[in-house]
Amino acid sequence: MSKGTIVKVSGPLVVAKDMKDANMFDVVRVSSERLIGEIIEMREDMASIQVYEETSGLGPGEPVETTGMPLSVELGPGLMGEIFDGIQRPLIKIREMTGHTIKRGIEVDSVDRENTWEFKPTLKVGDKVINGDIIGTVFETVLVDHKIMIPFGISGEITKITAGTYTVTDVVAKVKKENGDIVDITMLQKWPVRVQRPYKAKFTPDEPLITGQRNVDTMFPIAKGGTAAIPGPFGSGKTVVQHQLAKWADADIVVYIGCGERGNEMTDVLMEFPELKDPRSGEPLMKRTVLIANTSDMPVAAREASIYTGITIAEYYRDMGYDVAIIADSTSRWAEALREMSARLEEMPGEEGYPAYLGSRLAQFYERAGKVQALGSQERFGSVSAIGAVSPPGGDLSEPVTQATQRIVKVFWGLDSALAYARHFPAINWLTSYSLYDTRLSAWRAKNVAKNFPQLKTDAMRLLQEEASLLEIVRLVGMDALSKNERLTLEASRSIREDYLYQDAFHEIDTYCSPNKQYKMLSIIMAYYYQGRDVLKYDVEINDLINIPIREKIGRARFVLEKDFDAHYEQLENELLSQMNGLKTKGGESNA
Ligand code: ADP
Repeated sequence: MSKGTIVKVSGPLVVAKDMKDANMFDVVRVSSERLIGEIIEMREDMASIQVYEETSGLGPGEPVETTGMPLSVELGPGLMGEIFDGIQRPLIKIREMTGHTIKRGIEVDSVDRENTWEFKPTLKVGDKVINGDIIGTVFETVLVDHKIMIPFGISGEITKITAGTYTVTDVVAKVKKENGDIVDITMLQKWPVRVQRPYKAKFTPDEPLITGQRNVDTMFPIAKGGTAAIPGPFGSGKTVVQHQLAKWADADIVVYIGCGERGNEMTDVLMEFPELKDPRSGEPLMKRTVLIANTSDMPVAAREASIYTGITIAEYYRDMGYDVAIIADSTSRWAEALREMSARLEEMPGEEGYPAYLGSRLAQFYERAGKVQALGSQERFGSVSAIGAVSPPGGDLSEPVTQATQRIVKVFWGLDSALAYARHFPAINWLTSYSLYDTRLSAWRAKNVAKNFPQLKTDAMRLLQEEASLLEIVRLVGMDALSKNERLTLEASRSIREDYLYQDAFHEIDTYCSPNKQYKMLSIIMAYYYQGRDVLKYDVEINDLINIPIREKIGRARFVLEKDFDAHYEQLENELLSQMNGLKTKGGESNA
């Protein structure tokens, strides 16, 4: 083990000499307090170390010791429901040990060593296994069955496997390798956070991650295994959107990374998240969530590591065959940590002081999302969908982090403070947002929901775009300048906005909308438009069409329960048709 000496301390950056034997990305212990750090640059025998704990009081001459190991996470039963810091230290446990402020140099296992778990084998002695194969399961929480997998690099024949109650370090099985060596299998694995976990094959995402949010699912859908960004200026409803996604997205597992927002916001997350309920089971959402939190009393460097820690945990559950959603809030704070370290390393700054490698680092994170076939001889698929919130200062979307993110992610939900100010929620701007999965997912919707769903959506989007230019005309020359058809366009698009895109996260029924209900709600709004166009061929007063009674019912459709919706929709369709026919008759008579 190589020992070096500190020559310089600059905030979270420590430079040490005599580090010849250390490697890039080794974890090191700094000073006699044994603070945790990671080597982020090597120049001959000088190592630059990013220290994950407060470095005040440290000075030249103190020892630095490398562990010879890269920064790794522990993976095994007991992760669910945990709250970790950026380098996977269990915050609740630490709090119990040391009180509210984390003591420096504290050594505590990430995964509890004393807890016991009921291991149920799914394979038997004599079975051949390769890495990735599931050999048994553990009841981790009521919502998560933890699959015990053969670690990477091991294959052979099972010579022992026994059901029973074990700690994560107990041997649950033995595997005889081809060369005759016997390997002990425990329920605990380690994985270096900066290396993506291997898989057999990666696929183009082709299935939606259904979120129950109309604006997202219909207009700007994300795929299972996809990537999305939510840029949200202060007060634009970013937190509510993220909570809605965590609660409702049809992912089995949620990994939430709080990179430390302004001030004590991170403590809000620590308070709020454990309160959220999983709406489908009624259980606490934490039973299928891992929370990674960088509290404000922790140095910025830990933020940098946190997104890798998070995505490695996400990949681990993906490998079990689960759909995992990872939400990082906010990647701007993460990028600031990167900027700070880069400045201390005296690297050449890029735009706004961010390092030139900002884009490639962001890409390294989002790249790890995807739908994959897991390793192993048992065929199974899992996905990691990555959603990153961005907090552009002053809502300026041209700043480097937003720009770099936009180049990588496939979905962009542009939260808009003007919409939020007008209390239009979720404040996803339909003119600036986009989803590059749309074509693929349209195919899915046509097949699984309704054939004409994609067409309805395209027409609805077109109306919203036309509305924007029509409103400009109205603003300049007034409503009278518009034709009847244009007035109808305005009315229909208003209905799309107010009756469809607007969704109240706090309303018991409106908070979630299934694809079927989404389709039918949009159908009836668009039917008003299509039939309205037809009715206007007769001599019909535009105000009669605008004030047609059915519109009020269309506006209240979102409050109708899912189970009643099919019948309700039929009724709405019939009423719409008969009222439209009434207008036609009236118009036809006045024509005559
Ligand atoms: P941010 O995190 O961007 O600062 P929040 O997510 O806390 O903003 O949202 C601010 C407020 O906006 C919330 O307290 C809530 O009243 C309102 N709001 C946001 N989204 C919705 C929604 N989907 N439905 C209803 N109200 C919302």
